[in-house]
Amino acid sequence: MSDPYSIPRRPTLGVKVGGVTIGGDAPVVVQSMTNTDTEDYLATALQTAELARAGSELVRITVNTPEAAAAVPKIREHLDRLGLSVPLIGDFHYNGHRLLTDHPECAQALAKYRINPGNVGHGKKRDEQFAQMIELACKYDKPVRIGVNWGSLDQDLLARIMDENAKRPEPKDAVQIMREAMVTSALESAEKAVEIGLPADHIVLSCKVSGVQDLIAIYRELSARSRFALHLGLTEAGMGSKGIVASTAAMGVLLQEGIGDTIRVSLTPEPGGKRTGEVIVAQEMLQTMGLRAFTPMVAACPGCGRTTSTFFQELASTIQEYVRAQMPQWRTEYDGVENMTLAVMGCVVNGPGESKHANIGISLPGTGEVPAAPVFEDGEKTVTLRGDNIAEEFKAIVDRYVARTYQRKLHP
Ligand code: SF4
Repeated sequence: MSDPYSIPRRPTLGVKVGGVTIGGDAPVVVQSMTNTDTEDYLATALQTAELARAGSELVRITVNTPEAAAAVPKIREHLDRLGLSVPLIGDFHYNGHRLLTDHPECAQALAKYRINPGNVGHGKKRDEQFAQMIELACKYDKPVRIGVNWGSLDQDLLARIMDENAKRPEPKDAVQIMREAMVTSALESAEKAVEIGLPADHIVLSCKVSGVQDLIAIYRELSARSRFALHLGLTEAGMGSKGIVASTAAMGVLLQEGIGDTIRVSLTPEPGGKRTGEVIVAQEMLQTMGLRAFTPMVAACPGCGRTTSTFFQELASTIQEYVRAQMPQWRTEYDGVENMTLAVMGCVVNGPGESKHANIGISLPGTGEVPAAPVFEDGEKTVTLRGDNIAEEFKAIVDRYVARTYQRKLHP
């Protein structure tokens, strides 16, 4: 039976990045970026490991100095020692041609190079240095992402497009010109890379802007005009809920149209906050849209005047954290556990109904209700919990359900 929620993807060329494929028939890939100083190889390796363990399937690192380039092979070795094969992507600006030439071990250790066509040099040098990077990608058989960014758009190209626009009988407005310049920069750079000898299935394109409507318009255009694999991301999305909402609003529309082969959520971490937050948001975006499943999701009601305590909010949060923490182990033992759904509800109004729709649900007592919490497993009430130990007892029920329901993976 066909999945009524399945979203047809726009056809793109599959690009192999280490052991991961972007585009083609592959599911949408989650990626992230470190914010450590790459010269500090240990800090960067440890943050990369943290991102990979959180579910980042590709991790990008800044390669901005000779010392950072020299650190890349050490980061790769450290990850290999930890048993983590997550591919590393090198993010280059201004001096990538020199760093990749002078540090062949770096060029080899990276699984993909990110090239920003607005930051590879000016005038004649731009073309030479861009060509040099593409030749190095060909030499080491590495794919590249041609990553255009509104903040560093190729100014010569922008001037050319503005000149052409001025000659039109009905010139386009500034917003349309900006969008056109972004798309043109990506597509012309990709064409140049192909002319130099890089196969089209070694190229990923991105055009990042910070405006939701701009991102949607630009990617629709990119998708309509090419079959290159597309990296989606809203740049400078911001902090906290603003960054999450803006990224989801923009990428959700595009993913729903089948546009986008890999995503990165560019969140500014809260002071002291974890970098892995961007990975969790990316996974939750794909999972709530039904595009992929990574970890069991907990549905919880918002609470209202029928609840006098915050116990059910705490329970919902405890259970979501618990299943996320169990996933690294569960993933190795149980097939399909990531599709499990849970519900934690605040009272009898919607509690039993919502709980019955989840694989496991608990309906806590609201104000004035009998202090008892019925638990439902696959739609049937199996037990009623009471007293001060509900959270621990519910976790034990979840553990037993997982062990009973999801077939144990066979290890060789
Ligand atoms: S389930 Fe009950 S507590 Fe939760 S929002 Fe609905 S009425 Fe309020």
